[in-house]
Amino acid sequence: MLNAPLRILIIEDETQIRRFLRSSLASHGYELVEAATGQAGIEQMAQLQPACVILDLGLPDMDGLEVVRRIREWSAVPLVILTARGQEQDKIALLDAGADDYLTKPFGVGELLARIRAALRRTTGMQLPETPVAIFGEVRVDLVRRQVFCADEEVHLTPLEYKLLAVLVRQMGRVVTQRQLLHEVWGPEYTDSAHYLRIYMQHLRHKLEADPARPRFLITEPGVGYRLRDEA
Ligand code: CA
Repeated sequence: MLNAPLRILIIEDETQIRRFLRSSLASHGYELVEAATGQAGIEQMAQLQPACVILDLGLPDMDGLEVVRRIREWSAVPLVILTARGQEQDKIALLDAGADDYLTKPFGVGELLARIRAALRRTTGMQLPETPVAIFGEVRVDLVRRQVFCADEEVHLTPLEYKLLAVLVRQMGRVVTQRQLLHEVWGPEYTDSAHYLRIYMQHLRHKLEADPARPRFLITEPGVGYRLRDEA
């Protein structure tokens, strides 16, 4: 861990939300830098090189999708989007354009911090390949041996079930769109076959969740995709 606080850029025109984030993120050891427009955000981004960017969709000067595209032209910085309710289609377009995650307003600080940690893990996690073992609840996934254990008992997964789980494990804590999952597990010609995903997620829940009807870890993000929740 670095001693200097991690710098986070917020691009948001509402001063109230910026003020709220300024105090709550500072008390968790982050340094917040702020921009009130898309253009100012892109410039700050280049000058200050933050470890993570939080981007509000409702900006006065620029479409959020445009901001994501502009940033992704030259930067792989973790990007978390703030959205309003009912913007599912926007969320999918944003995730496909390279955003890492989103949060729907109103949100709590705990949830925002979890999203930031998950987004940061994508960049810092890649430098820590020592233990390619993921743990959630009683489940342990060994990505090297391709073995899955639940309460120390090995669970047999079919090759497709394992592939789906492995994609979610590698993105642990982050939402993965249906399109991304179908593309990575089944292939590019299957990106509209969402029913495959529903069926295989059910299989995984039956094998890995204590109560498959109320999953604690293999979470559906309605209209968007799925998330493997990372808290214990
Ligand atoms: Ca706004």
